[in-house]
Amino acid sequence: MSGIIKLLPDHIANQIAAGEVIQRPASVVKEMVENAIDAGATKIQVFIKDAGKTLIQIIDNGDGMNESDAILCFERHATSKVANADDLFALKTKGFRGEALASVAAISHVTLKTRQASSETGTLLEIEGSKIVSNEQTVCPIGTSFEVKNLFYNVPARRNFLKSENVEFGHIKDEFERIVFAHPEIAFTLKHNDTEIYQLNPAILRKRIVDILGRNSNDKLVPIEETTEIVELKGYIGKPEFSKKTRGEQFLFVNNRFFKDTYFNHALNKAFEGLLPSKHFASYFLYLTVDPSKIDVNVHPTKTEIKFEEDRLIYSIIFSSVRQALGKYNIAPTLDFERETSFDLPFEMRNMPATEPQVKVNPFYNPFQSNTATSGASKGNQFTKAIQSEGFGTNDIRKSDWDAFYTIEEEEKANNTLIDDDHSSFEMNDFLFKGRYLITTGATGILLIDIPRAFERIIYDELMAKFIGNPIASQKLLFPIEKEFSSAEITEWESNASLLGRFGFEWKFDKNMIIIEAVPAVLQEESIHDCIDTVLAKIAFQDIDKGEIAHALVLSIASSVGKTKKINNSVAARDLMEQLFLCPEHAITAEGKRVMQTISLDELSKRF
Ligand code: ADP
Ligand code: MG
Repeated sequence: MSGIIKLLPDHIANQIAAGEVIQRPASVVKEMVENAIDAGATKIQVFIKDAGKTLIQIIDNGDGMNESDAILCFERHATSKVANADDLFALKTKGFRGEALASVAAISHVTLKTRQASSETGTLLEIEGSKIVSNEQTVCPIGTSFEVKNLFYNVPARRNFLKSENVEFGHIKDEFERIVFAHPEIAFTLKHNDTEIYQLNPAILRKRIVDILGRNSNDKLVPIEETTEIVELKGYIGKPEFSKKTRGEQFLFVNNRFFKDTYFNHALNKAFEGLLPSKHFASYFLYLTVDPSKIDVNVHPTKTEIKFEEDRLIYSIIFSSVRQALGKYNIAPTLDFERETSFDLPFEMRNMPATEPQVKVNPFYNPFQSNTATSGASKGNQFTKAIQSEGFGTNDIRKSDWDAFYTIEEEEKANNTLIDDDHSSFEMNDFLFKGRYLITTGATGILLIDIPRAFERIIYDELMAKFIGNPIASQKLLFPIEKEFSSAEITEWESNASLLGRFGFEWKFDKNMIIIEAVPAVLQEESIHDCIDTVLAKIAFQDIDKGEIAHALVLSIASSVGKTKKINNSVAARDLMEQLFLCPEHAITAEGKRVMQTISLDELSKRF
């Protein structure tokens, strides 16, 4: 007796599959261009008629196919890219499902011309709704050409639901851009109804981005480059002042594949926080390279969502590298700083005639060494050089602060006959109050620095920079520290294990006790307890975003180390100031607390 269950005929199964893979003409462009890249093409041309409804043609100069492969490629689950299950977990190609061509062939009229280098003649196939209607030998160039005509001709529901030509072509352009940004080494052409939209020569990444965004975008790009064991980060971010009101320029790639990720997106937005006008979006072109076995691209049929094994760490690395890049190019928050009337000293100095700053920087300065004994005499002009080599403009807050500071001093030397000796002028200018505040005077005012916070800022920047590159050095504790932990706290701690490990923490659990055996090497003995408590508080009790934990950890380490730092001579005071002014955001701590205050001469005279 026969049952009611039947296997679907192939062409119907293909049509159903097509619904998932091919949603609109843009999906065909994406799949076909990706196939061309997988075939090793160095030149790919895309011709579109009527936003893809009439024709989509993709011509490549890749490997091509022989006759039997040309026939087979339209079968479902036909792929040359995955041979066994292991391959799925270390994908190096864009395609792997073997569904795209079968799907396209099920819902359109396809003409395929393809030839391999080893063959004199090529194959010409015509397919209509999954059926081969003609197969002959042909003369054609090496590579492959697919013509897809009358898309969705047999799926009227789909065809009728296609949007306007503008919208559909917009989707095609989007897909095309995502691919060309990922492959600057390949030449691409995009033509729509005889209008040339893009004609892209092989280029370096920056040039490719500029070719797409327009020539004046070159000045807006800030490079990002970071290598860690987990991820290699490359690319560009747009300077905040050029941010846009649309999300259009946000691109993430992993192993040269475009993907969408709201979590990493958040890391980027976080890094830009405070820098963008409201309702504006950051621009970024970020390229991640990770071991293919550490990601899963299989989660989505169109493969734009990707799972990362180390997503938390990658979040932190993205956040800190973008922060660093923004800082390095002096586009990190200068905000309050400029608006605060209390910091008018450097600000008003900006309008002074430019004098060559006499910058003295001690390149051997180590903020982790208390009581630096290095003398001011060995100082070079690294700082000026650093500024010049960055090539960034005159409205650079860091430089102007520093210039101002020193211009004052130079001026004072010239004007003040009482002070004629370099060394004594230092002594006369710096005061220590209650061991906590450093007070220094200049021609136009008084600068007050909160010493622990200044150290906190310096150490924060230093650790953040180190953390990005390598794990932070660790020190074993002679007497391990024991703390009682709830099971929820144990879970929290464990879920941040790899991050905590990178910071130099080592521990084991014994029932509900955590035994901390090693801590970050920068911690001085007296700050270890304080730091562990802060870290525990951050991790266990606070509802902080998981990716911000790196920032929170560095912050707690920096603030505990900062508290133990002392200054007890004028050379150390100078060193501290120099180090501090090298930090892009020297006016506030990473937590936003004020590091310095100024009292202008004006303000001072009003008081009298
Ligand atoms: P997948 O890309 O997942 O393997 P597709 O259906 O997109 O599946 O393609 C099926 C197969 O057809 C590919 O694995 C490849 O061998 C072959 N193929 C498709 N496009 C091209 C091309 N442009 N050049 C050479 N071979 C191609
Ligand atoms: Mg494919």
